[in-house]
Amino acid sequence: MSKISIIKKIQLGTHSFPIENHDSEFSFNFYCGNGEIKHEASISLEKSNLVSSLIEIGAISNSDLAQNDVDKLQNLEDTNRAFTYRYQIYNSKECNNDYLIIFDITEYRDYYSGLIYAVLQIEK
Ligand SMILES: [Zn+2]
Repeated sequence: MSKISIIKKIQLGTHSFPIENHDSEFSFNFYCGNGEIKHEASISLEKSNLVSSLIEIGAISNSDLAQNDVDKLQNLEDTNRAFTYRYQIYNSKECNNDYLIIFDITEYRDYYSGLIYAVLQIEK
């Protein structure tokens, strides 16, 4: 994959979604085109990969992600962090844009959540 350019960060109403278990697939909505187009993305551990693999091949950098408010640079660069950053690329047929969804599945006392760090509109 060549370098990914980030066009913009999409505003989300909710970032955290309760899910049944670690391997659940879950869907969430976001809007583009000044809120006119509603997208539903379906994400799961199985369909995703680690953001670190994109960084290794030079497709994206931690500073690109920090500049687009995915998380603090300090967190992004912390290799001892308990939580990982996973990604899925979602192509919307409605607007023909590509979105990089950065998320993780977290667990707290047997309750699982899908945590969306960011949805970034990208150009591949
Ligand atoms: Zn769109």
